[in-house]
Amino acid sequence: MNRLFDFLRRFLYGRYGNDALGFATLIGYLILSILSSALNNLILMIPALLLLIVYFYRFMSKRTAARYQENQVFLRIWGGVKRFFTHPIAFFKDHLHYAYFTCPTCKQKLRVPRKKGKVRVRCPKCGTEFIKKT
Ligand SMILES: [Zn+2]
Repeated sequence: MNRLFDFLRRFLYGRYGNDALGFATLIGYLILSILSSALNNLILMIPALLLLIVYFYRFMSKRTAARYQENQVFLRIWGGVKRFFTHPIAFFKDHLHYAYFTCPTCKQKLRVPRKKGKVRVRCPKCGTEFIKKT
């Protein structure tokens, strides 16, 4: 038994493992495979298996920084989706009055009040300035 644990520990050492995006790909796989058998539609198994492959690829990946970034992007999008469904009016009001940008240098997400025409945006985190249309 000890040798098995040793092997597993060495095998998994430095690998990325699970995160929110991994969890979401697994859920996606489950939903698609259940739909596939419920509807007797084998075509649905193709995206389902792709999601499963993505899950294991990310789990086993040693490029943890890249996987972490992917998860951050996922969490940002998921946060927006959640807000859209839990507070739809606030979501639309927010997007009516504010424009969202990503800093080209540090990828910080920025919210700017909408005005007519172009505005100069200054990233509070890294100080980069860029011109955007709101
Ligand atoms: Zn920045």
